[in-house]
Amino acid sequence: MDNWVQRLSNSGCRITASRRAVVGVLQQTEVPLTPHEILELARAVHPRLGLVTVYRTLNLIAAQGLLRRVHRHDGCHAYLPASQGHNHAVICRRCGRAVEFAGGDDIEALVARVEQATSYRIDGHLLQLSGLCRECIRSALPDPSHPKD
Ligand SMILES: [Zn+2]
Ligand SMILES: [Zn+2]
Repeated sequence: MDNWVQRLSNSGCRITASRRAVVGVLQQTEVPLTPHEILELARAVHPRLGLVTVYRTLNLIAAQGLLRRVHRHDGCHAYLPASQGHNHAVICRRCGRAVEFAGGDDIEALVARVEQATSYRIDGHLLQLSGLCRECIRSALPDPSHPKD
């Protein structure tokens, strides 16, 4: 928490109690959260927090490269803390828990293949994988995306 707060204040942001509440929720989450979910959780710490402040704080955190925007299995856009450097995320589609992983040579090879096939010059990518985490595989609950199974 202090690390993020430090980075934000070093970049000239005023660290108010409401911004601190948003930062605290984001830093602690293991699952991607929508702005409304962040608002609800952060209101437990700072009851007068508003959605506008949540969005503003998300922008400030994103400007520091500390935020990852992901597509959740329910179709919502949501946010996770991002570590430094170029990483990708794999997200459990049942419980939402996310883990980061680094890209490798195989991604470069894929990009080269796509460049060749499309004649595009590719200069960026966003890679997100989804699946079931170990706990969800172990659990006996039926898979929500295959209700007939
Ligand atoms: Zn899971
Ligand atoms: Zn990559």
